[in-house]
Amino acid sequence: MQNFVKGKVRNFCIIAHIDHGKSTLADRFIEATQTVSEREMRAQLLDTMELERERGITIKLQPVKMEYQGYVLNLIDTPGHVDFTYEVSRSLAAVEGAILLVDATQGVQAQTLTTLHQAQNAGLTLIPVVNKIDLLNAEPEQTAQELVQILNCSLDEILFVSGKTGEGMPALLQAIIERVPSPACETDQPLRALIFDSVYDAYRGVISYVRVMEGTLAAGAPIELMHSKRCDTALEVGIFTPALKVASELSAGLIGYVVTGVKNVSEARVGDTLTSLPRAQTALVGYREITPMVYAGIFSTNGEPEALREALSKLKLNDAALQYEPDHSQAFGFGFRCGFLGLLHLEIITERLEREYNLELIVTTPSVAYHERVEGGRIIYAEPWVKTEIIVPTRWIGPVMELAQIERGIYQEQETEYLRDLNAERERVILRYQLPLASVIVNFYDRLKSVSSGYASLNYSPLDYREEDLIKLNILIAGDSIEELSQIVHRTQAFERGQALVTKLKTLIPRQQFEVALQAAIGGKIIARETIPAMRKDVTAKLYGGDRTRKDKLLKKQKAGKKRLRKLGKVDIPSDVFIKLLR
Ligand code: GDP
Ligand code: MG
Repeated sequence: MQNFVKGKVRNFCIIAHIDHGKSTLADRFIEATQTVSEREMRAQLLDTMELERERGITIKLQPVKMEYQGYVLNLIDTPGHVDFTYEVSRSLAAVEGAILLVDATQGVQAQTLTTLHQAQNAGLTLIPVVNKIDLLNAEPEQTAQELVQILNCSLDEILFVSGKTGEGMPALLQAIIERVPSPACETDQPLRALIFDSVYDAYRGVISYVRVMEGTLAAGAPIELMHSKRCDTALEVGIFTPALKVASELSAGLIGYVVTGVKNVSEARVGDTLTSLPRAQTALVGYREITPMVYAGIFSTNGEPEALREALSKLKLNDAALQYEPDHSQAFGFGFRCGFLGLLHLEIITERLEREYNLELIVTTPSVAYHERVEGGRIIYAEPWVKTEIIVPTRWIGPVMELAQIERGIYQEQETEYLRDLNAERERVILRYQLPLASVIVNFYDRLKSVSSGYASLNYSPLDYREEDLIKLNILIAGDSIEELSQIVHRTQAFERGQALVTKLKTLIPRQQFEVALQAAIGGKIIARETIPAMRKDVTAKLYGGDRTRKDKLLKKQKAGKKRLRKLGKVDIPSDVFIKLLR
C-alpha cells in the first residue's frame, strides 16, 4: 500500500506569468524536501526536454512527489504560455491548491491574471507568493499590494521568497501544509482518474499522468478511457520521484502514472477520464477536444516527403494537439499542412523536426483557419476571434488602444481598480478587447510590445467565428501568382499589407539575371509594386590577384548557398524567405 496517511497529502501546482520563476522554485522544493540527492540535482530539473532547457521555457509538465515532515506533497509544474492554456486547466483540475507566483521586479502580468481566473474557477486554494526578492530592483511591497488587490486577500497571507537563494522556503512549505486542503479520499467508489498529461515512451507506449479522484487504480486492473473509449489494462502504476517509480496501486487523492498499453497519445488525451471495473457512471467534467489555432505548410528541402511524414508521425505520438495532412505546393512539392495551438507550438515543432530529424524545412506564413462559403458567386470568409486581456502601464494606454483599433479590436472594458497604485510610475490598467485571432498572431503581439517599450502583456482565449469583409490578397513574383504567399486579409488592411509584403520581399529575394517585379493584387487589380533590378556583377570580381584558394572557397560558399535556393515561378529564392517574411 501507499505510505501515506489520510489527511497527509497535499496536491498543488505553481502558476505564474512566463519567466516569473516557476521552474526555479520547483527546484527549490525538490531541494528543500531532499527528494533528489544533491549529486543528481541540476538546475530546473523539471524542464526535461533539451529545447526547454535551452529556451528556459516549460513545455511539458513533469510532476514530482515529495515528502516533508510526514506529508506527501505532489507538485505539478505548469506551462505558462498561452498556447497551452488547456493543459494548464487540466493540471489545475488535478490539485487542490496553487501557488500564485509573481516576480517582484515585474508585478502582476497578463498570464498571472488568466491562470488566476482559471485557478479560481477550479476552486483552488491560492497561496500568493512574491518571488525574486533577492534582486536589487525587486519591489516586494508594491508587488504584494497588487496581490492584495487582485486576490482581495490580506497582506499577511502573502509570502516572500527567492527561488534563487531559497530564502522563504520553510515558511512556504509550512503554508502549503496548513492552507491547502487535503484531497477527498473516497476509495470505495468506482475508479475515476483524470489524465492531466500523456507522454509517449518508445518502449512502453503511452504513459498517462493521472490524478485519482475516486476509487483505486491498481496495477493489472482492466481500464477504460471514457472519452476515447479505449479499453486496456493498467500494465504498471507508480509515482514520480520525479523519475517513475513502480507502486502496486494509486488510491483516491494521489497523483501518479499509469502505463496503459495504448500506443498513441491521441487515444489517452489530456482531460480524459480513466475508469475500471466497476465502471464509473460519468466521466469527469472539463474534457475538451483541442483544436489547432494556427496553420502553416511545412515542406522539406532535403529529402523525401516520406522522411517528413515519418518525423511528424513520431512527434504526433507524443503530441495530440499537433495535426497534419498531406499538402502539395507548386513551389515546394509535397509536404504537409499542419495545425498548431499557437506560434510557440509551431516554433517548437519545426525546431524539433530540424534538430531531431535532421530536416531542412520551409515553413509557410502561419495563418488561422478561415471558414468559407459561396454566396452569389462571391466567397465569403469567416475568421476566428479571441478575447484578450492586456495589462499595460497607464502611460501607454493611448498607443495600445490605437494599435488595437488599427487591428480591428472591439473595445470591451477597462479595469483600473486592480492595479491602481501608490507608485504612479508602475500604475497599470487591464484593457479587454475582442480581436481577430489573425491580428493577434501576426501583428498585434509584437507591436504591442514595441508601443509599450515591452511593458504590456497580453493573453487571449477563443471566442467565435465572424464573417467580416475579408478578401484574398495575391502576391505575384515576376508575374506569377505565388499561392504560398497569398493570404486572406481585411479589405481595409489589404493595401498596407500588400505594400509591406512586397517591400519586405524585395529585401529578401536576391537579384536575378533579369528584372523582377513584385506585386500585390486583389483579384486582377494590382495594389502595390516593387522592382528588383537585374544582377550584374561577378562574385569573384572583387578578388584581385591570383589567390586561388580564396577564390575557390568563395565559389564553394556560393554553391552551398545555391542549394538552399528554391525556384518560385521563374525566380530563385532562399528557402527561409517565408520565416523571415513573418518576422
Ligand atoms: P518560469 O518560466 O516561470 O519557469 O521561470 P524560470 O524558473 O525559468 O525563471 C526565469 C528566470 O528567472 C531564470 O533566468 C531564473 O534563473 C530567474 N529566477 C527565477 N527565480 C529567481 C529568483 O528568485 N531570483 C533571481 N535573481 N532570479 C530568479
Ligand atoms: Mg519553466
